[in-house]
Amino acid sequence: MTEETHPKPVRCEALVRGVVQGVGFRPFVYRLALEEGLAGFIGNDTDGVRIEVEGAAERVERFLARLRAEAPALARIDSVTARELAASGEALRGQAKFQIVASEVTGRVSTGIPADAATCPDCLRELMDPADRRYRYPFLNCTNCGPRFTITRRIPYDRPQTSMARFTMCAACQAEYDDPANRRFHAQPNACWDCGPRVWVEGADGAEIAVDDAVAATIELLLAGKIVAIKGVGGFHLSVDATNEAAVMRLRERKHRYGKPLAVMVKNLEAARAVCDLTAEEEELLMTSARPIVLARKREGGGIAEGVAPGIPWLGVFLPYAPLQHLLFALNQVRALVMTSANLSEEPIAIDNDEARARLGGIADAFLMHDREILQRCDDSVMAQVDGAPQLIRRARGFVPLGVELAAGLDLEAPPLLAVGGHLKNVFALARGRQVYQSQHLGDLENLTGLEFFKESLDHLMRTFEIEPETVVHDLHPGYLSTAWAKEWAEERGPGLIAVQHHHAHVAGCMAEHGLRGPVIGLALDGTGYGTDGRIWGGEVLVSRLDGFERFGHLEYVPMPGGEAAIKEPWRMAFAALRNAGFDSESAAALAGASEQEARVLDRMTERGVNTPLTSSLGRIFDAAAALILGRREVDYEAQAAIELEGLAGDEPDKLDGGDYTPELWDGKNHGIDVPLVLKTGRLWKALVEDLRAGLSKARIAARFHSGIAEGFIRAAGKVSGKTGIRQVVLSGGCMHNRRLARLLREGLEEEGYEVFQHVQVSPGDGGLSYGQAVVGAAMLAKRSE
Ligand SMILES: [Zn+2]
Ligand SMILES: [Zn+2]
Repeated sequence: MTEETHPKPVRCEALVRGVVQGVGFRPFVYRLALEEGLAGFIGNDTDGVRIEVEGAAERVERFLARLRAEAPALARIDSVTARELAASGEALRGQAKFQIVASEVTGRVSTGIPADAATCPDCLRELMDPADRRYRYPFLNCTNCGPRFTITRRIPYDRPQTSMARFTMCAACQAEYDDPANRRFHAQPNACWDCGPRVWVEGADGAEIAVDDAVAATIELLLAGKIVAIKGVGGFHLSVDATNEAAVMRLRERKHRYGKPLAVMVKNLEAARAVCDLTAEEEELLMTSARPIVLARKREGGGIAEGVAPGIPWLGVFLPYAPLQHLLFALNQVRALVMTSANLSEEPIAIDNDEARARLGGIADAFLMHDREILQRCDDSVMAQVDGAPQLIRRARGFVPLGVELAAGLDLEAPPLLAVGGHLKNVFALARGRQVYQSQHLGDLENLTGLEFFKESLDHLMRTFEIEPETVVHDLHPGYLSTAWAKEWAEERGPGLIAVQHHHAHVAGCMAEHGLRGPVIGLALDGTGYGTDGRIWGGEVLVSRLDGFERFGHLEYVPMPGGEAAIKEPWRMAFAALRNAGFDSESAAALAGASEQEARVLDRMTERGVNTPLTSSLGRIFDAAAALILGRREVDYEAQAAIELEGLAGDEPDKLDGGDYTPELWDGKNHGIDVPLVLKTGRLWKALVEDLRAGLSKARIAARFHSGIAEGFIRAAGKVSGKTGIRQVVLSGGCMHNRRLARLLREGLEEEGYEVFQHVQVSPGDGGLSYGQAVVGAAMLAKRSE
C-alpha cells in the first residue's frame, strides 16, 4: 500500500477561512480524514477552522484537494492556508486517530454566523417518513439546513447563543449532536417532538384553539378563505389561498396594500411550473438554499387569482424553505398560498408572538404560532433573472449576514466603518478589511418604527462581527433620517463622517464588484438621489473613480410639481414633462388626464417654483410615460408605473429603434456655457404623443420609449468616450431592475465595442447603496492616508 512505500509521514496545518462554522464543516472534515486514513484534529478558531492532518504525503495532498472540492453545500471557502509541520509520528502508531476538538474562541471572530438555509433533501425525506422519529415534526433540521442568522443572539454560533437555548435536548437528540459521524453533529437548532419547539393555533383574539393537528387546522382555515398569520423563519407571513380571489382582496383591504404584487408559495418546482413559465435559470434560482422569491413570467391559466399581481405579467413565486411550510403543502390540499410579509405597508416585519398578536390581530383571522423565538427580523429575499444573469432585488433571508468582498482583486482595505444606506428600501453595511457585511432589507427609513429596526439590526451586526465603526458614511441628502441619525451618532460616539453622493455610490458599488478603479463611464439610472447642486438626480452620466466622480451629463431637468406628490401621482410628471416640452396647458392637461383646475394649479406652482423641485430622474420620466400611455393617475407602490410600462412592452421586438424617442444631446460647451451635457427630452414627448394620437399600439409605444431612452444614454456614453477615451461602462441604479432597459443598454453598448459591467452580488437599486457607500468611504480614506 502507499503508506508502506512512504514510511515518512507528513503533517500539515490548514487554516480554512470563509463560512465554515455551523454548516457541517467539521463532521465533513472528520469523515474526509477517516476516509484518507489521516490522524490529527480540527477545531474552530477565530478566523475559521484550524486543521492538522498527518499521514502519507499523497493522502494529505488528496485530503487538501477534496477539502475544497467536496465542501458541504452551505460552506463557503474563501481561502485555505496550508503549511507543513514536523510530523509527530502519531499516524504511524497503529490506527490513525482524528479528533474534533472543542471550540476555543478568543479574540476577534471573523467567521460570523451562517445564513438561514432551506430544509435539505435528507431532512425533507425524514419529515415525510412515517417510520422516522421526526415524522411531520415542524422544526427538524441538520448541519446542512435550518435557521441560523434569525435565531442567533451573538457569536460564536453555539446553541446557548441562540433561541434554542431554552430547549434542552432529549437523550436521542443529544446523542446525534455529540456524534461526529452524524448529520446532526453540532447542529445547534437540533430538536425533535420530545424536546423541541411546538406549534399551535390561535384565534384573532390570541386565545389558543384546541385542535389535534395545528397544521391540518391551518389548512382548513386557508381553504375556507381565511387569512392566517403564519410564523416563519425571519418573521410572520400573512397567508391566504392564492387561488381564491375574494380571500386575496380581503387580505389587501385589511393590510391596506392595494396594487403591490403579493408573493406566492407553491409546493415544489413542478407546482411552480404550473403557475409560471420558468426558464432553466429561474428554476435554479428557486432551488438555491436561500429560496428567494423569484419574479417570473405568469402562466396563462395558471389559476392564480388576478388580484395577486394585478396589471403586470410577472408573479413572485417561491418554494417552502422551512419544515412547517412543507407540511402545509404535504397533502396537496392547497395549491398556492399568498405568503406576504406580515406588516402594514413599509413597517418592519413582525417577529415576536405578542407583537404579532397586537399588530396583526385586526388583519388575521387566526395565527399559526410557534415557540422558537425569532431574534432577527428577516424578510424573504427577492431575485429576478435580468439580462441573462440573476439579480438581487431584495437581499435578506438566506444572504444575510454573508459578506461581499470590498473590491475584487483591488488592493483596498477598509478600516472599521458603517455605511448607513439611503432613504427607501434601507440596507446598511459594516465593513472591515476586505469584507462588507450588508444588513437585511430594513424597509423605508421614513419613520421611527423604521429607525428602531435600523438600530436594532445595527446593534446586532456590530456585536456579531465585533465591528466598532471609526467612520460613518451617509448620503449627501441633508433631510434623510439616516443622515440625521449618522450625524447624531457620530457626535455621540466619535467616529468621522463622510458624505457620498447617491449615484456615485451606485456606480462605485458596481465598479468594486468587478475590481475596477476607474475612471469608468457610469450610467446611474434611478428614481431619486440628492445631487451636489441640491437638485434631484437620477439620469446621470458620470465619469467615476472609486474615490470621486465628475458629472459629465444628465437628463434634462424637469419640474416635479408637488415634490413627493409627483412620485405618487405620475399624471403630475406627465403634465410637467409635456409643458416642459412646449405643449400648451390645455393639451398637456388633456393628455395627462388632468382637470383644468389641476392644470392651473400646477402651472402656477411651476412658475413660482413652489414645492416644485427640479429633477433629472429617469424614474420620473418612466412615470410620466406610463401616465400618458396607460392613463395611470396614481401609483400604489414605488416604481409601479415603470414596472407596468416594461410589462406593456412585453413581447414587442426589442432592437434599438428609438427614432425620435431618443433624447437629443445638448452640449453647452458648443454655446460657450460650461455645464454638463444634457439629454433633452422634448422631442421624445412630441414623438410619443404623435404615436398616441396616430393610434399606434400601446405596446409598440412602450417598446419605442425603452429603445429611445437606451439609445440616448448610449450616445451620451459615446460623447464621454470621445472626450476621454474610456471604454468601460458601468450600469447601476434602480432602473436596472428593468429587464428590457438593461438588455437594450448592454447590447447597444457592446455593439459599439464597450466593455459593459452590471451588478453581481449587490442590488443595483437602493438596497445596494450602502455597499457602494462603504466602497467610496474606504477609497476616500485610503486616498487621505496616502
Ligand atoms: Zn437537513
Ligand atoms: Zn429530541
